[in-house]
Amino acid sequence: MEKNNTKVHVEHLKKSFGKLEVLKDISMDITEGEVVVLLGPSGSGKSTFLRCLNQLETATSGSIIVDGFDVTDKHTDINKVRENIGMVFQHFNLFPHMSVIDNIMLAPVELKKMTKEEAHEKGMQLLARVGMQEKSDVYPPQLSGGQKQRVAIARSLCMNPEVLLFDEPTSALDPEMVGEVLNVMKNLAKTGLTMIIVTHEMAFARDVSTRTIFMDSGYVAEDAAPSELFTNPKNPRTREFLKRYLAG
Ligand code: ADP
Ligand code: MG
Repeated sequence: MEKNNTKVHVEHLKKSFGKLEVLKDISMDITEGEVVVLLGPSGSGKSTFLRCLNQLETATSGSIIVDGFDVTDKHTDINKVRENIGMVFQHFNLFPHMSVIDNIMLAPVELKKMTKEEAHEKGMQLLARVGMQEKSDVYPPQLSGGQKQRVAIARSLCMNPEVLLFDEPTSALDPEMVGEVLNVMKNLAKTGLTMIIVTHEMAFARDVSTRTIFMDSGYVAEDAAPSELFTNPKNPRTREFLKRYLAG
């Protein structure tokens, strides 16, 4: 049985695209408040894994339970799942023709989670939290990449997600903007929100994660505390990967 504080339960997850087997057999449990960083070479299945968690991809087999909802059960209301599990992408996916605050209010109002007034109030609080309150009426094309990503994070938070997924949230940013986004994420991590983050920012991963998972060719190759994984990797593939990244 699942414990109450288990936020994500994955059992023997497999995902293929045609003949290409991308996720080969993944099992893991993630507990409330964990900040999990997923590392791994390009093509190892990190994005596919995150996308299976919120049903942007359908698992080929295995089961995924997020906050008590069986994501892999056809009868589960997928909108309920997506209310509980937010996602921040590499490319911010903000609506360019809507102001910052309207972008943030859109989902909670459309899904009738909040009235417009409630969503506005919460949206403004969240913009303050990511240092963007002054930009509430601006349109996304007028923002820098780092600002857009901070708005995208506020937008995800406005749905009160139980779990927040990040897929390389700083990879599309100019280097001078990476820090402001990582700072917002670092502060979020301290609030006890359960987060799963794909990133290549090794210093951030080491500082902020409570657990680091190294994925290789569709498997979990190593799953350890960051202090352990970064200083004493057990798997030769992890060692090789870190050597390449930390040298670079
Ligand atoms: P990562 O995020 O670790 O770089 P991905 O999960 O994006 O890896 O991709 C893993 C593998 O799955 C890659 O070989 C990629 O080409 C393939 N893949 C991902 N999405 C699709 C798709 N929709 N159709 C076919 N192949 C895909
Ligand atoms: Mg990816």
